[in-house]
Amino acid sequence: KGLQVAIDGPASAGKSTVAKLVAKRFNYIYCDTGAMYRAVTLAVLNQGIDLNDDAKIAEVARQIKINFKPGETEQRVFLNGQEVTHDIRLPKVARNVSAIAAIPAVREEMTQQQRKIAADGGIVMDGRDIGTTVLPDAPVKIFMVASAHERARRRYVENKAKGINTTSLEELQQAIELRDKKDSTRKISPLTQAHDAIKLDTTNLTIDEVVDAISKIIKK
Ligand code: C5P
Repeated sequence: KGLQVAIDGPASAGKSTVAKLVAKRFNYIYCDTGAMYRAVTLAVLNQGIDLNDDAKIAEVARQIKINFKPGETEQRVFLNGQEVTHDIRLPKVARNVSAIAAIPAVREEMTQQQRKIAADGGIVMDGRDIGTTVLPDAPVKIFMVASAHERARRRYVENKAKGINTTSLEELQQAIELRDKKDSTRKISPLTQAHDAIKLDTTNLTIDEVVDAISKIIKK
């Protein structure tokens, strides 16, 4: 049985890349909670639901089935049995996800599901509110940050590598900063560092260095 490891931070700070590698090293489960909010957003967009209809959106969050499956290089995401690994990364999803993630009933449903997934420990969970709200008792909490420019650059390179149709680097940085602003100013569980989290600035660190730093904290 392993620990609960919570990794939070702004968009594209390297959370999921690092979380996946840490999970692999300790043979833990990896859970990308951002993918869950993205899946809700995709379902809402696909169903043509009014983006101002909080009650309908909450209903979608409760009704859809979100599943993860480990893939070759990435974690595969399924929405009602259909693979949406790539679709949840589309710009239209990124543009709308923060508004949907700010709906209290949506967060309530996702938080419940996330606590169930993490209940037995041996898990690395990344998101925005894991250390503060989802798993407040997690023994390992990391708050991962990096400069907005570096984060945009990483996401740009990642999108290109995945063959995802990407906007310019400048537009990407603007979109990331806008999303961070929305995520940190919302009323419910805003993006913020838990008082007992360890801050890791990854701007000038390699992926391996970050994975090593977190591994040391887990082993302590
Ligand atoms: O991690 P990722 O960038 O894929 O997350 C997408 C969006 O989902 C975030 O910008 C945020 O609005 C929302 N989110 C959240 N709480 C989490 C994880 C993600 O509100 N724990």
